[in-house]
Amino acid sequence: MDFVFAPHAPATLAIAGSDARFPVHRIYCIGRNYAEHAKEMGAAVDRGNPVFFCKPADAVVANDATIPYPSATQELHHEVEMVVALHSGGAAIAADAALTHVLGYGVGLDLTRRDLQATAKAKGLPWDSAKGFDRSAPVSALRRAAEIGHPQRAALTLDVNGQSRQRADIAEMIFPVAEIIARLSLLFELQAGDLIFTGTPAGVAALRPGDRYLARLEGIAELRGDIG
Ligand code: MN
Repeated sequence: MDFVFAPHAPATLAIAGSDARFPVHRIYCIGRNYAEHAKEMGAAVDRGNPVFFCKPADAVVANDATIPYPSATQELHHEVEMVVALHSGGAAIAADAALTHVLGYGVGLDLTRRDLQATAKAKGLPWDSAKGFDRSAPVSALRRAAEIGHPQRAALTLDVNGQSRQRADIAEMIFPVAEIIARLSLLFELQAGDLIFTGTPAGVAALRPGDRYLARLEGIAELRGDIG
């Protein structure tokens, strides 16, 4: 096929214990999936209507990167989240079959321009520039479910400059992974290569230039990096 210019190489993530890379297709995110975080944001949890949004695939940043402080914000926030990686997909996936589509798990940061998000919320405008900016999705190497199973409980933590910022257990998620996949697949046809950020617990706060972060999904994945 002839292209007018060379197509972009796919964004990829490492898979622990393998030389094979995970090619990223799309990045889906769920909001308000931990009650204490919804409370700190002054948002109500609507059990019937989970909040979904997307980031571009090329927003992923690998482990051990320096992320330049983003433009157009004075309030870059961290949101530590478990990340689910799919090796297959479909539409209208039943919750009891959903985990068969999961290749593995990692930990990531849903970086957020909180000031732009607050303005968007106040004006009823879209969140894209608050959530889907360049390098807004650092993600660890993925661990295969074939190796670790499908974790139901694990501590999800974020330290910044050696100090604890966020700490919860993934068992506290309002919508568990299988239900997120089932509900997302009613809105979008999921595909191999999709990543799902599963929501953040309480404790979101600012990252500043020079900050060093360490995100952990206990016993499963670690993500390090710093803000330039
Ligand atoms: Mn989030």
